[in-house]
Amino acid sequence: MSDVSPTQKITLPNGKTLEAHTSLFINNKFVESIDGRRFETINPATEKPIVSIAEGTAADIDVAVDAALEAFEKVWQHVDGKERGRLLYKLTDLMMRDMEELGHLEALDTGKPIQNATGDVEDAADVLRYYAGWADKIHGKVIETSHEKFCYTRHEPIGVVGQIIPWNYPISMLSWKLGPALACGNTIVLKPAEQTPLSALKTAALIREAGFPPGVVNIVPGFGPIAGAAIARHMKITKVAFTGSTTVGKNILKAAADSNLKKVTLELGGKSPNIIFADADLEQAIKWAHNGVFSNTGQNCCAGSRVYVQDTIYDKFLEQYKEFVLSKKIGSQYEPDVYQGPLISKVQFDRIMSYIQAGKDEGANLVLGGDRHGTEGYFVQPTIFTDVNESMKIMQEEIFGPVVAIARFKTVEEVIEKAHLTKYGLAAAVFTKDVTRAIKISNALKAGSVWVNCYNQTDYNAPFGGFKESGHGRELGKYALQNYTEVKTVQINLDMKR
Ligand code: NAD
Repeated sequence: MSDVSPTQKITLPNGKTLEAHTSLFINNKFVESIDGRRFETINPATEKPIVSIAEGTAADIDVAVDAALEAFEKVWQHVDGKERGRLLYKLTDLMMRDMEELGHLEALDTGKPIQNATGDVEDAADVLRYYAGWADKIHGKVIETSHEKFCYTRHEPIGVVGQIIPWNYPISMLSWKLGPALACGNTIVLKPAEQTPLSALKTAALIREAGFPPGVVNIVPGFGPIAGAAIARHMKITKVAFTGSTTVGKNILKAAADSNLKKVTLELGGKSPNIIFADADLEQAIKWAHNGVFSNTGQNCCAGSRVYVQDTIYDKFLEQYKEFVLSKKIGSQYEPDVYQGPLISKVQFDRIMSYIQAGKDEGANLVLGGDRHGTEGYFVQPTIFTDVNESMKIMQEEIFGPVVAIARFKTVEEVIEKAHLTKYGLAAAVFTKDVTRAIKISNALKAGSVWVNCYNQTDYNAPFGGFKESGHGRELGKYALQNYTEVKTVQINLDMKR
């Protein structure tokens, strides 16, 4: 395969230009797809194409997996942790060097305000730096069994890992996946979301520049049911990590079971409750409850889209919350002071509008928003429903847009019961000044992350993942390393007579 390294020029609104990589990245080379197919990536703020991208299919996934397997067997599994860490540190340095460029690519592809996109790049570099530090600290234990045996464990890499990531935080999700997998000594075939391949392909160029051996990281853009499904069922991939919808997560689990029983970790959707007690600091609760659901235009797996407010402060909360929501600006990536950007695609725009319609049809009270914003781009007004109940679609399903449902509650028992009435268990939050109540409710909530007097807090040190149908396994922190190693037990007989 020859390196086509084609880049396409992108002109930014300020007149500056960028060169974007637009091909598959296999064996440290940028290559066209086998059948030469391409698809367009769209700027969601303008609905106009940015560039065309090579489309990987099952045949390209086969080539990428073969490259990853050869790299694993011949090179990467023999590379010391210290060297793996050094390469990861180098990659983070390069990402920081090119932070501005990565930020522009991310902003154009996702529609996020440029400052948020650049912040995501910085966060991604932090995650990779954190895992660079782990690379030479992956080790087993000596285990006392009997005097006649010497028993120890080794934490070995799994092999070729398939990683499928979504479009809401493309570069962050890339770092959550690459970091622990590379630190533990695996090789990778990663498929970015079809809506947002640009930052992943730019990172591919940096991976090569950092000096990672060919085949260690392969990045194949393509569509979920074609390239993604090919990863999930591949017989030479021994682990798959996925972030996205619960529906696709279930498909991946089935494909893993029906192929080679590859290991699976899943970070899926949510319908997270945010519980606000009467004794909470109201101003702070409003600020966090707003950020909890409207940040990233509501396209956040943790979105606190069910807000439960204690009845004695409900009216006051609602009035001030509406004002706070209306104070935030909607706009495209480069407009100043923008809080909320567009939705990612026409498909998501239509989906969110149909949820808003369902809310109206089922009798919820639309108190704010509910319509398209502007005439160009996939913008939806921030939308608030009240008078909701747990049987409504907008209280059960992940909307993944700027839509919140606000409900009243009276007692702790009542609100915990309601909080649990969905199939999800990704996150939850409680606002109260009563520390005993905060701890008791945090213990009771069935959610992978519980925030007290804050929302949407993730840290590369702290595990993240879901209870119930929100997923399998934990990402970030030391916990994520368990997803990327096999534990081998070795027992040596010290007394051959026994
Ligand atoms: P999705 O789950 O279809 O896409 C996520 C990733 O999975 C993408 O890379 C996609 O190409 C891939 N994929 C899709 N079908 C696949 C398949 N059959 N096999 C393997 N991979 C496949 O999500 P979507 O359709 O883009 O969005 C739909 C809904 O999913 C959203 O409204 C939201 O509720 C949810 N979602 C959740 C997250 C999250 O962070 N948990 C992220 C994106 C979307």
